[in-house]
Order: sequence, then C-alpha cells, then structure tokens
Amino acid sequence: MMRNYEKNLLVLVAPALLAACDNTIGEPADDPGDPPPEVPGEPAEPDPDLPTDDNDFLTDGDGRVFSYLPPGDLLPDSGPGHQDTTIYRPDIVFPLEDAAFLNSQVYRYGGSQSHINGMNGGQCNATNYEYPWQDTFCESRSRAQIMCPNGGHEGNDIRAATCIPNSGETHWAVAVENGRIVGLQGSKYTVKLQTEDGTLYRYMHLDMSQLAVNDGEFVVKGQRIGKVWNDFFNSSGEQVPTTYHLHFEMYQNYAPDEETDPVFDQVNPYMTLVSAYERKLRNE
Ligand SMILES: [Zn+2]
Repeated sequence: MMRNYEKNLLVLVAPALLAACDNTIGEPADDPGDPPPEVPGEPAEPDPDLPTDDNDFLTDGDGRVFSYLPPGDLLPDSGPGHQDTTIYRPDIVFPLEDAAFLNSQVYRYGGSQSHINGMNGGQCNATNYEYPWQDTFCESRSRAQIMCPNGGHEGNDIRAATCIPNSGETHWAVAVENGRIVGLQGSKYTVKLQTEDGTLYRYMHLDMSQLAVNDGEFVVKGQRIGKVWNDFFNSSGEQVPTTYHLHFEMYQNYAPDEETDPVFDQVNPYMTLVSAYERKLRNE
C-alpha cells in the first residue's frame, strides 16, 4: 500500500540517508558480504543481469507513462485540499474501463475558474488529457463536509481517455466493487453503489438516459454502469451541462481524531484511485 507514494518521498529523503551513512564510515566493515562503499557523486550503474522493477514506469494502453502529484497538492488558488494518503479500499477496480485523467474541471481549461491560472480555452485542451494526475478533493466549494470543514469538493473528478465532444467515443464507468444500485429513482445526475459492508460510492454526470443498470440491481465488480457524460442540474433545478467527466465519491466512517465519534461521510478517494489505476495498468 502506498508504495509509489513512499517511493516518491524516498527521493527526497535519500540525500539525508546518504549523509547519515557518512557518519558510519569509521566502523569496521569486516563482513565479506558488505558491498563496497559508495563513492559520492558517482551513481552506481544498474546491474543489467538483475530484473528491472517494472513498477517504476507504468504505461497506459496508449504508451503514456502514468504519474501523479501527491494527495492534497491542488492547482494554485483552487482550494485547501486535504492531504490524505490513505488507501481506503485496496481491492477496488478503477471506475473507468479505459485510460483516465484526474484533474480539475473548474480551474483547468474549460472550467468556470480557468482564468485564475491562465488556462483559457476549451475542455478539450490536450493538457487536460495528460498525466500527471492532480487531486481535486477539497477544491473550493461552498458545501462543508468532515474533511473540508470550510467547504470543499467532495470527490475526485476523472476525465475519460478522450474528450468526448471531439472524439465522439464512448467511455464506460464500471462498478468498483460488488454491490447494489440504490436511490436511483428521481436521481437527476447521481448513481449510487453500496457494498455489503456499507461503503457507498457516488458516480455523477453519467448519461442518465442510457444507464446500463436499474435501481435496486445487484452489480458485480467491473460491470458497466453508464457512459461518461455531462449531465448536471444547478441548485435552481435547471439542466446545465458540466464538462464531460465522472465525479467520483466514496463514503466511509471517518473520525478526524481519537476523541471524535466517526461520521459516515465523504473521504478523499485519491490514493484509492491511484492504487486501483496502478493495478489496472499492471493488468492485476
Ligand atoms: Zn466533481
């Protein structure tokens, strides 16, 4: 769990570890199994006979190398974020069948606040469909929740593999776990999936006129739920399209500290999604 995140951290920590190793040079090194001391400034050549760590570079179906920014690292001036390294559900499948890009729908190209970082242009801008992923949990919003007490985006936004207005392609959202579709009747743009142990997922902005599931239906992990689309209604009940993306939420029992009783609320799904995507790219 969190191996790649820790690996990223290790890059930062390694110089400090090397400095610490310098303090041990005076110790006897009489064990013949000890490797020769490393000379600073001369990086060791990788041994060509050893198998390479194929987790270092994961590529998607189009050969692009997957990378992601740390949790809580949002675009400048787009909200506080919530640095949450927890992989809440280590066994889910990724909620989209194809390659996907997590980034902001509001502060990037095509969003209502795109000017703040000079990202003026439409949602099909190529950089919206590139790695690295960027967390959008607790991006600025008015609604408060347990992890974003001053208001914040309750999930992560996921663009499909291609920009649908340009490509015309279909990108399916799938059940991340076995569970049941609940509360669909009367729902305008949200599909809820609940697992046997109570974990709740919310999928938003699918093409609600062409869902592949019915209310109350039991679904299996990986089963198609609906097509990534732009269905949305504003608070006045008017239908206004959003950008083409899946908004994905995950509810768990969560307590901010040991003195507080847990609350069933949205938690940051970012590292759970990173973990699921890495397993997907490894064909696990
Ligand atoms: Zn969203």
